[in-house]
Amino acid sequence: MSVTLQTQADCDIHLGMCPHCVAAADTSTRLMWRNIESKHYLCCDHHGVFWLVGENDYPAWRYEPAELHAQNKTKIGSMQRVEPAHSRASAGLSRPPPR
Ligand SMILES: [Zn+2]
Repeated sequence: MSVTLQTQADCDIHLGMCPHCVAAADTSTRLMWRNIESKHYLCCDHHGVFWLVGENDYPAWRYEPAELHAQNKTKIGSMQRVEPAHSRASAGLSRPPPR
């Protein structure tokens, strides 16, 4: 299941933000959450970038169909991996908040 987060601000500090959106001061971009097996990624489809959020932090990935993960892998494979504007590490947090 792909989840569209409400706003960049939802992801701020905890999960990171698209560095291109931050540079442009664009808070309207919606990030896409994608899982590939146990790894969780946030993607900015507008700028074609993604970053790793965590691994097995959200067990829901186990209930997603393998086809969805294959689609996610194809999609992410066409995108550029970046460091998010604000990583969890830089915010002093080790895990994202419970959802
Ligand atoms: Zn962006």
